[in-house]
Amino acid sequence: MSQPHGLLDVLIVGCGVAGMSAAVTALETGLAVVNLERSTPEDFGGNSRWTEAYLRMKNDSEVSDDFEDHFARNAGCNLDPNVLDTVAGGYDHWPAYVKAHPFPDPELIGMFAQSVAPTIAWLKGFGLKFGPQPIYLLTQGTSRIAAQGGGLALIEALRAKAIALGGEIRYRTTAVDLLRDAEGRVQGVIALDPDGKRHTIPARNVILASGGYEGNTEMMAQYIGASRARHIRPVAIGGYYNRGEGIRMALAAGAAPAGEFGSYHAEPVDPRSRQAEAVIFIYPYGILVNAQAERFIDESPGTVDAHYDEVTRTFADQPGGQVHVIFDSKVDDIPNWKRSIRSDIAPYRAETIEGLAKLTGHAPEQLAPTVRAFNAACPKSTGEFTPFQLDQRATKGIHPVKSHFSRPIDRPPYFAFPIISANCFTFGGVKVNANAQVLTQDAHVMPGLYAAGETMGIYHQVYAGATSVLRGLVFGRRASQHIAGAIKTA
Ligand SMILES: Cc1cc2nc3c(=O)[nH]c(=O)nc-3n(C[C@H](O)[C@H](O)[C@H](O)COP(=O)(O)OP(=O)(O)OC[C@H]3O[C@@H](n4cnc5c(N)ncnc54)[C@H](O)[C@@H]3O)c2cc1C
Repeated sequence: MSQPHGLLDVLIVGCGVAGMSAAVTALETGLAVVNLERSTPEDFGGNSRWTEAYLRMKNDSEVSDDFEDHFARNAGCNLDPNVLDTVAGGYDHWPAYVKAHPFPDPELIGMFAQSVAPTIAWLKGFGLKFGPQPIYLLTQGTSRIAAQGGGLALIEALRAKAIALGGEIRYRTTAVDLLRDAEGRVQGVIALDPDGKRHTIPARNVILASGGYEGNTEMMAQYIGASRARHIRPVAIGGYYNRGEGIRMALAAGAAPAGEFGSYHAEPVDPRSRQAEAVIFIYPYGILVNAQAERFIDESPGTVDAHYDEVTRTFADQPGGQVHVIFDSKVDDIPNWKRSIRSDIAPYRAETIEGLAKLTGHAPEQLAPTVRAFNAACPKSTGEFTPFQLDQRATKGIHPVKSHFSRPIDRPPYFAFPIISANCFTFGGVKVNANAQVLTQDAHVMPGLYAAGETMGIYHQVYAGATSVLRGLVFGRRASQHIAGAIKTA
């Protein structure tokens, strides 16, 4: 592991959208760059490899109208009004405890929103295309476009560009610790090579772009809770590569934590499927029952895109961490309803609810009364069923209520899919400023250390859907822009 070009300017841990965006940006300014990647070349790119890359944007040059507002509304539970008062003033006047606060501060989110359009314009320069794309969410409360070819197209285009510009990727190489001098300046990393041997890799700057901790069961148990974490698995294979070393090494060096460590972005997935993101989004049109055949949550509190994160997280708290959606053949009233299902495994199907219970493993004498009680609580004649618009067809006299799309489940055949709460990515990470520089618990910049993508924590409560790919692209780029600027002025 020798350095062919002397001391590296930038060592980047990870090759997802954050790591590759950082690499190309730095290489374009003439810096010497190496990326470390724990996977083989065939599997590189962590979660980014598997995403459809929906982007919370109105078109390829404007973010959605609710972009910053969604972050503000989901900035943390019971936020201290003193903190909120403080951020109304200029960043330079914020006290250290506010600058190092785990919430997505308005300075950071403002920079995020502003940087999206130029970042997409830059990517279009490599031939990448962005535009509207059908999605599995049948009701939406915001706007989304997508990267054509998904995350794979993004990372492959960026990798090709990085290699063309003289970048190097060291595969099957895992960063395990930071190198720092006596004053705390980061000077590189310690990494394990493909044979598992430790090496020091010196560098002037390190960008941690190594994802979250969705692939680390110990950290999942520690932060998400052992009884919940045992029911949760990554939504796609890429998640297994993200084992939290980047976050751990930064925290151990004194970085401030940010984002909600006890939470994650959840997706409702068919546990039987081997496919990536085998989502089941038909549940707003049926009922959700746990292993005791009890309903436990409002299946349709609002548009599915705005609520599935919270709804799906509750599945992990149910017995066995598995629930079922039950629906009937009236589902055919929903044009193209199969668009909401990405599992390759057929639903259970039966002519009676009791017959369905035998297939799902429920006690028939428990499932049948649950369905009967739900049917009796559905609105009788009032209100038209409008599957693509919230229709206020709420149940009456039953707990929990179902707020929309309530119709009796009474027309055979009956169907069921099992669903678990799968982990798209974890919310906890390290605190960065608007330049992606990692901050200490006292809000000092940690010299030479940057973080981007999932490794930086910004999310609390409900994930601002379709912003994680953008976060990686934008902050990977900002980290390298800042490094290039600092080297130029040194
Ligand atoms: C199936 C799926 C669908 C999704 N859909 C969307 C969507 O539509 N829109 C959206 O915005 N987001 C979506 N997401 C989330 C989003 O894709 C990811 O959060 C984002 O791509 C993460 O980018 P990243 O670069 O931070 O991390 P990753 O892409 O996960 O990259 C991390 C990299 O670091 C490497 N690595 C990890 N640890 C080490 C180490 N110690 N040393 C060396 N290398 C290491 C990994 O191998 C990987 O290459 C989805 C995620 C999945 C899995």
